[in-house]
Amino acid sequence: MNAGGKGWEPVIGLEVHCELKTETKLFCGCRNAFGDEPNTNVCPVCLGLPGSLPVLNTRAVEYAMRIGLALHCEVRPSIFHRKNYFYPDMPKDYQVSQYDAPINVSGWLELPDASRVRIERAHMEEDTGKTSHIGGGGRIHDADHALVDYNRAGVPLVEIVSAPDIGSSAQARLYASELRGILVATGASDGRMEEGSMRVDANVSVRPAGTFELGTRCEIKNLNSLRSLGRAIEYEIERQVGLLESGDKVVQQTRHWNEDEGVTVALRSKEEAFDYRYFPEPDLVPVVPDAGWQAEVAASIGPMPADRRDKLASLLGLEPPTRARADQIATVVEHGLDGLVSAAADAGVDVALALARTANEASADPDAARRLDVAGFIGLLRMEQDRKLSATQAKTVLADMLENGGDPVEIAKRRGFEALDAGSLAAVVAEVVADHPDEWQRYVGGEDKLVGFFTMHVMRATNNRANGKEVAAELRRLRG
Ligand code: ADP
Ligand code: MG
Ligand code: ZN
Repeated sequence: MNAGGKGWEPVIGLEVHCELKTETKLFCGCRNAFGDEPNTNVCPVCLGLPGSLPVLNTRAVEYAMRIGLALHCEVRPSIFHRKNYFYPDMPKDYQVSQYDAPINVSGWLELPDASRVRIERAHMEEDTGKTSHIGGGGRIHDADHALVDYNRAGVPLVEIVSAPDIGSSAQARLYASELRGILVATGASDGRMEEGSMRVDANVSVRPAGTFELGTRCEIKNLNSLRSLGRAIEYEIERQVGLLESGDKVVQQTRHWNEDEGVTVALRSKEEAFDYRYFPEPDLVPVVPDAGWQAEVAASIGPMPADRRDKLASLLGLEPPTRARADQIATVVEHGLDGLVSAAADAGVDVALALARTANEASADPDAARRLDVAGFIGLLRMEQDRKLSATQAKTVLADMLENGGDPVEIAKRRGFEALDAGSLAAVVAEVVADHPDEWQRYVGGEDKLVGFFTMHVMRATNNRANGKEVAAELRRLRG
């Protein structure tokens, strides 16, 4: 990348739509559920039938405030507008949204690397229905016909709009992932990108490095994984730099990310606000959450991921934690499993061990891990810490507990881990060997006296239950 020798600098702003986890839709009593039989959760209000009137869902307002407060926004008196357009997925022919008076404004989000991205606004709106094009590979132009499911029409959304503060695809991914963690922590949304409950649009422009004026942007719609988000931004930066370097201009456009081909393609020229003929929704009154309600909502939201990471780091006594530990901490918090580590720490178990087992093993099945019996988990860690189980055995017992539940002592007994059979001795020896690659190389190279070194480690790992001759035999067998 080169602009007069200085290169180009990407500028990115993200718009994130998240569905709120309310029981019912934003303006009617229809069920808000993913995956139900099409067109079963509909009524005159969300179908836009004449004469029907909307009634605002209080819980949705509360959830929108939770999100705003978690993002350090100012909660403002807000009004709803009609955004008019004619698509079959919107039976009313308009979408109720917030325009110039959104409920949350001027916040910020801090990333794990301590950089901050400003939040311009986080407003409420209703979701549209879902159109599926049938035949012709699902493409609209080649399709035979289209099907519309209105179950999603009227589902409450919050749209979170960042300032153009993001400088790379990696930072955009970090932002989306941290925002997802925050949304989940507020309890307002489940942040599932693959189910479409969190959808990201990326605005991308480039400018000569070191300058301040913003370049012309393109908006890439509906990226539904962090991976696509990163790839689409990378592609778009390259495309725009290519245009500018060959003397062309970037045209402001809405573009679509084609996952299979790894390219963005133009959908339409950017629509302007006047295309939508916004006007205040006459059937709804302004929403003015008073200070008391705001304080109640602020008190109801739990600690955010950043605070939870800090807490785990301080439990470990490492501030700042090493890179490897920081990654484990991030994984544990991302999956909402920090409670396991804190409980183990409270019980006096080695925190580093608790963190490792939670990050490496329990996080592989976060749903099961959240159901794990905490006392049982602590018991297992104790057995490993006291060397009643080797690390391999402890991992096996934990996997069993995650899958079937049960008591670690019972499971270990059932698996014969107490008796230290030949199989588990071999496992312990293999583990000790793997832990000491240099000594192993020397032993393989003929330094026989290292048998003593390995035997000592195996004894330690097995609480002296191993037989020294068997250890030596196993080492010879491994050496081949
Ligand atoms: P619209 O609603 O028309 O898409 P907004 O002004 O609300 O426009 O901006 C939407 C997003 O675009 C915001 O996240 C903002 O940060 C981002 N953005 C605006 N201008 C640029 C730019 N030149 N380059 C990159 N992102 C931009
Ligand atoms: Mg936009
Ligand atoms: Zn309805």
